[in-house]
Amino acid sequence: MKPLRGLISNIERFAIHDGPGIRTLVFMKGCPLKCLWCSSPQTQNPFPEVMHDAARCQRCGTCAIACPAEAMTLCNDEGVRIDRELCKGCGECIDVCPNQALELVGHHVTVEELSREVNKNSAFYRRSNGGITIGGGAVRSMGLMAAIELVKGKETKEQIGMLPMESPRRIEELMWEKGIYARAIPNESIALAPPFIISEQEIDTIVDALDSSIAQMEKEML
Ligand code: SF4
Ligand code: SF4
Repeated sequence: MKPLRGLISNIERFAIHDGPGIRTLVFMKGCPLKCLWCSSPQTQNPFPEVMHDAARCQRCGTCAIACPAEAMTLCNDEGVRIDRELCKGCGECIDVCPNQALELVGHHVTVEELSREVNKNSAFYRRSNGGITIGGGAVRSMGLMAAIELVKGKETKEQIGMLPMESPRRIEELMWEKGIYARAIPNESIALAPPFIISEQEIDTIVDALDSSIAQMEKEML
């Protein structure tokens, strides 16, 4: 089984404003909310991305020449503009910049790697009643969030039961009886959002429960 990995932008040590005691902040990358007032917008995108520091940039254009995707253009205000649609995150521009004005934000870590890293400060957590704060992007965006539409046919989208939402609500009940939390949501859908730490075996249990619940709902309603 592949180790569970998350995308983080950075780790900040000795934080004293994000919870009790001395804390280590882990900034996840990827957030579905994208609030206009976000204090760490570099963590919104769920992929590694190149960041440009206009104060360091000498507008030499070396990065734009090196970019294989032609994603960079020189401009007067910021120095370089990066077209996020074209950028593939290859990092070639970072290697050639003579002024370290470019940086790749976001790297994958396993749970073990991250816990090894944050545990370096465990003595401070114990003495100050501190710990770890997971912030930046939304940790939930790293896990699975899926919804399945329950309709008679893909083209017609005709509901299965007599009443709107009848079939997803029935699935919700059946799943709850099996000890699994699934949620009926609009558009005749059933949503699943298992926790980030879910194992492959637990995923199999959910899929089996969903399969048998759908079969039972069909027997009752079709
Ligand atoms: S990361 Fe690669 S594709 Fe993106 S701007 Fe830099 S060189 Fe171009
Ligand atoms: S290579 Fe570096 S200094 Fe030159 S334009 Fe690009 S970002 Fe600016």
